[in-house]
Amino acid sequence: MAEEKSLNFIEEIIDTHLKDGVYPSIVTRFPPEPNGYLHIGHASSICLNFGLTKRFPGYTNLRFDDTNPVTEDTEYVESIKEDLRWLGFEWKYERYASDYFEQLYALALTLIKKGLAYVDDLTAEEIADQKGTPTEPGVNSPYRTRSIEENRDLFVRMKNGEFSDGAKTLRAKIEMGHNNMLMRDPILYRIRHAHHHRTGDAWCIYPMYDFAHGQSDAIEQITHSICTMEFTPHRELYDWLIAQLEIYPSHQYEFARRNINYTVTSKRKLLQLVVEKKVAGWDDPRMPTLSGLRRRGYTPESIREFCERIGVAKRDNLVDVGLLEFCVREHLNRIALRRMVVFDPVKIVLTNYDGEEWLSSENNPEDPTAGHRQIPFSRELYIEREDFMENPPKKYFRLSPGQLVRLKSAYIIRCEEVIKDPQGLITEIRCAYIAESKSGSDTSGISVKGTLHWVSVSHAVKAEVRMYDRLFNVEDPTDESQDFLHYLNPSSLTVLPQVMAEPSLLETKSGDRYQFVRKGYFVLDKDSQPTHLVFNKTVGLKDGWNPAKG
Ligand code: ATP
Ligand code: MG
Repeated sequence: MAEEKSLNFIEEIIDTHLKDGVYPSIVTRFPPEPNGYLHIGHASSICLNFGLTKRFPGYTNLRFDDTNPVTEDTEYVESIKEDLRWLGFEWKYERYASDYFEQLYALALTLIKKGLAYVDDLTAEEIADQKGTPTEPGVNSPYRTRSIEENRDLFVRMKNGEFSDGAKTLRAKIEMGHNNMLMRDPILYRIRHAHHHRTGDAWCIYPMYDFAHGQSDAIEQITHSICTMEFTPHRELYDWLIAQLEIYPSHQYEFARRNINYTVTSKRKLLQLVVEKKVAGWDDPRMPTLSGLRRRGYTPESIREFCERIGVAKRDNLVDVGLLEFCVREHLNRIALRRMVVFDPVKIVLTNYDGEEWLSSENNPEDPTAGHRQIPFSRELYIEREDFMENPPKKYFRLSPGQLVRLKSAYIIRCEEVIKDPQGLITEIRCAYIAESKSGSDTSGISVKGTLHWVSVSHAVKAEVRMYDRLFNVEDPTDESQDFLHYLNPSSLTVLPQVMAEPSLLETKSGDRYQFVRKGYFVLDKDSQPTHLVFNKTVGLKDGWNPAKG
């Protein structure tokens, strides 16, 4: 199948490079900063980078872009690796930008030696103030003319910890009147006396993104360094540094970020949701993180399919979360085991039935290899309260007085009497079952329009079900007319503390996927206990979301 689909624009570039012999094989990398958990936006970048080296000869590295000691943590490193493996990708080499601190430092000294970098005593604010505007050139720093010797000496002393945070920076010496603002003597190194999650206290100067990313690419001989569009203006600096340093000529290619509606895909905002306890953690099933989607019951296949369908574009756009839901629903329809669970039970008594029997029911009509299971049937059953109406409108095919319905995988029943409590609430519905109508050997000749799910009262297993809705009320919570938290959907989680499930669900193992008949797709949650089952709703059977769909 992969062979048949047309190439995206990056695959076309690579295809041409390989055909023209520019490279015998390719090397790509996925470069997360370990300052948060991976989200659905990252999945696009992962599928693209790893997909390229599945399709073409070559390999992909996992490189942690860990140049900011203050925000990064090993917890994030571990979660990123777990999520990548779960998505189905293996990297060739696990690398860290921090592995290259020594080499990056040496490269900085090379630039200084070439007269292409200088130590500046201006503060970051002063530097920003003197940058100029897109239409006006910036101002040269008074420290720009320091001698190579002085720069070298000061930079070594920066590294040795002689100066405090912010006292000095190392800047590239390019041109303060350059039409690309990023080329106006960009900062390459800053002083940060902070503990790094891997290098500890060994360093107190840290390279900026622009002086770490391209250089790390070159060290790893990355042929195609793929990033998102916001880095397009950085490409000129990326190329300039590689050319001046005369290192391996990696090249940068940009594609559009992928964001999805009704959520946020920014690690900073996701972290805020976690820290302010708006959600139960990075893996809260409402989160667009890969760990949240996993806990929600998404399959890796469905996420890869989603990334494949949205493709690789050159312009940013907001992808409809409905497509993600479509992908998981389609996959789960093929693999999920069918089970019967009654959410809001009302009791049925079969007045002409005694004893009990075990009936066979298909595990998955879409998958003949999924087999059958046995379900207990008895005189007292639960059905959904909403599946009965005392005074139904026309064309109501569920249960109502005098009406016939089929109980799934069991018998046809007829409603004969309704029992209510003094407040008028229905407490019991008395029905007669038709013995010849047993599913699989039905000789009754009766055809009915409605089929209901049910659970035997004495065999029912109680479970908790957690139902989720969109985390935000609006398509784009980052529209900036309000703080994004203002748009949080207050009813994004609904807990049903006690539903009635068929007893085979007691055998559920974590990761098993179920379709609760007529209800949707569900997965066991990590909070589940043998004595207290907890299920998460992954997605409904149909696209049930119906806001004014703008
Ligand atoms: P965030 O704003 O969430 O922190 P980021 O771009 O800073 O995102 P990184 O860890 O630096 O996060 O990203 C690793 C890689 O994933 C980068 O190449 C980045 O371009 C890519 N990426 C991040 N978010 C998206 C997205 N929404 N769509 C596509 N690619 C993305
Ligand atoms: Mg980043």
